[in-house]
Amino acid sequence: MMLHCSGDDRGLSDPVLLEKIDRLFACNVGNYVDLPQLVVVGDQSSGKSSVLEGLTRLAFPRDSGLCTRFATQIIFRRRSIGERRIMASILPCHSTEEVHVAELHSWKGKDLQSLDVESFSAMMAEVHTLMRVSQSENDGLPTFSKHVLQVEICGPQEDHLSVIDVPGIFSNAIPGKTTKEDKVLVRSMVQAYMKNPRSIILMVVPANVDIATQEIVEMAHEVDPTGERTLGVLTKPDLVDKGAEAKVIDIIKGDRMQVKLGWVVVRNLGQSELQGGITRRDAAEEELQKHHPWNVIDCEDFGIDALKIRIRVTVTANARQAFTSVKHEVSNSPKARQISLTSLGPPRKTMEQQMQYLVDIFSSFQNLTTQALGGNYSLNDAFEDLGALRLATAVVTRNEKFSEDLDRWGHLFDFNNEPSSQSDASDFVTGRQKSEKGILCSRKYKDIPEILDILPEPSNMSPPLSHDLASWIGDEYRQSRGFEMGTFNHLLLSGLMKKQSLKWTTLANGYIGDAITIIHSYITNGLSQVCPDRRVYEKLLSFLMDKLLERYQKAIDKVNHLLFVERSMIPMTLNHYLNDNMEKCRQKRATSILASKVIDGPNGKVVRLDDLKYQQNMSNVEHVVQNLQDILQSYYKVARKRFVDNICMEACGYHLIQGPISPLELLSPSLVGSMSMEQLDEIAGENAILKRRREQLHKEIVDLSMARKILL
Ligand code: GDP
Ligand code: MG
Repeated sequence: MMLHCSGDDRGLSDPVLLEKIDRLFACNVGNYVDLPQLVVVGDQSSGKSSVLEGLTRLAFPRDSGLCTRFATQIIFRRRSIGERRIMASILPCHSTEEVHVAELHSWKGKDLQSLDVESFSAMMAEVHTLMRVSQSENDGLPTFSKHVLQVEICGPQEDHLSVIDVPGIFSNAIPGKTTKEDKVLVRSMVQAYMKNPRSIILMVVPANVDIATQEIVEMAHEVDPTGERTLGVLTKPDLVDKGAEAKVIDIIKGDRMQVKLGWVVVRNLGQSELQGGITRRDAAEEELQKHHPWNVIDCEDFGIDALKIRIRVTVTANARQAFTSVKHEVSNSPKARQISLTSLGPPRKTMEQQMQYLVDIFSSFQNLTTQALGGNYSLNDAFEDLGALRLATAVVTRNEKFSEDLDRWGHLFDFNNEPSSQSDASDFVTGRQKSEKGILCSRKYKDIPEILDILPEPSNMSPPLSHDLASWIGDEYRQSRGFEMGTFNHLLLSGLMKKQSLKWTTLANGYIGDAITIIHSYITNGLSQVCPDRRVYEKLLSFLMDKLLERYQKAIDKVNHLLFVERSMIPMTLNHYLNDNMEKCRQKRATSILASKVIDGPNGKVVRLDDLKYQQNMSNVEHVVQNLQDILQSYYKVARKRFVDNICMEACGYHLIQGPISPLELLSPSLVGSMSMEQLDEIAGENAILKRRREQLHKEIVDLSMARKILL
């Protein structure tokens, strides 16, 4: 605060405290410290502005006719560098219209180099207009405004302090000037400032009136019942009636008004003295102090300087308390900020930094994949939280399901169906089903929208048809037989196999759709796990997407390739299980035919040799058909197992997981090398917000660590 007499001892704050606050401001954490705040309250014309002027040496406009219409907050800040600077602005109240808010915001006080009487009152006039408060009778404008005029004074000799001058409260509305509503408005405004526990209430009461009639005393008692932060100021001692002085002195000496911080008598200049312009404020005060009965008052209870000292003690005590919480804040903040900073990852300004950043991400991804494929789930908590990361388990489970589905649902006609007189070839067309009803969906996993386009359509299927297999094969044979005798054209087996394996396409497509879904959700979840920066994650994924789709497509192509091999080529196998299976078929058939001829002999079950002749009782065609059925059944089983293995190993295992062109292989550090400088910057570069955030955090950590040292 600019003081008329030099030296810190005359300021409103303790010099040691000031220095501490100074140093906190110097390391930018002053904002954590709430500035001590003085609120000057009292009835209209009680002398508030005069007291403020005495304290701050700023020419607060005092106008006996025109009372204070809005709150004025003067913020003093000490700044060791630079010249004294005064800035004025208006803080619009909350309920203001947007247009008006903009207007108020755009106002900046001009020519405030020195805030003398003229410039201060000129500015006030300007502000009155801006705030749209009444300046003459009958202009229809409100008398008071809830906007706040804020004047910030920075300089090497200022205190760290905020002082608020509020409109004076009044009990009677004056027709044409103030209304009952005004009275309520001002009261609530003043009360709000007084309620703030940070405020020190400077309660101004004229000595020449009956204090008991002063509403402000009651109000102060309401918000601060113990009087810890209320300081009483008695003004106008010079106007006290002769003989009534004893009552005033009583207040100061006693503690009747329950104001712990006590009372101070202050003598300001009266209206006529001000207009006269000769009388000096301090001289007038000193003069009064010399005379009876005021000379009985202790020095520390009389005069503006005594008031300053009293304020300083109070402010210091308050600030000490505030420092305790600041200390707490300051000692915990650096840690929290360090965590935030770490979460941003290393800086990525240069190309090298960007490459390294991505290489690290891909390396972490590969480590994760090694664990995921090894089923080594205990190593990383992520496997616990994200089911999609348990890759090995998901794939193995799906493989098994595929094998099982193909076994139970893959063949068109049921192999084990006994010949029945009702069934005929039309069953195939009408789709008569086995008694074991149900529908099987080819897909087990939910679709992921971004890969939906390339995946084969899911579809439902029915169980194998319970049509008599022998009559279907017989029909097929009869329609395509040539001159062969006892044998058949090899193309016939191809045709039968193709029809019998009709549903392999749906099942295999469903399987590969699921496998790709499993891999893709592993990739997205895994990548977001190793790349906490959401922006980078999204950019990386969009960079990868086309390449991933290409690789997924390769797996689908492989499925089609294997389907062609199994279903459209001439049946072939070197697997000796074909013969084993055929032998089993024949034995089964013989056993079932002879079942009725079996008799119990002394050494187990026996069949008479004559009964075996029954078997020979077949036509040539029947024999060939029977043979054909055995071969089809035997070959189908060998081919089905081969198909399941090939699909799982080649389409999924090789193309999706372990092969050199699998999508998992794509997400390797070497991919970074293939990125152009632009791509690198686009994906891994820091945007302006992030850069600023990083710099901000960095600075705050440095500042706060320094602040901690200051406060310790
Ligand atoms: P506010 O409305 O509470 O801000 O009061 P002001 O500071 O504007 O003062 C109201 C009137 O009382 C002004 O004319 C002042 O000159 C006058 N006044 C204030 N304090 C004293 C004082 O101690 N003695 C005398 N004689 N007049 C005073
Ligand atoms: Mg005033």
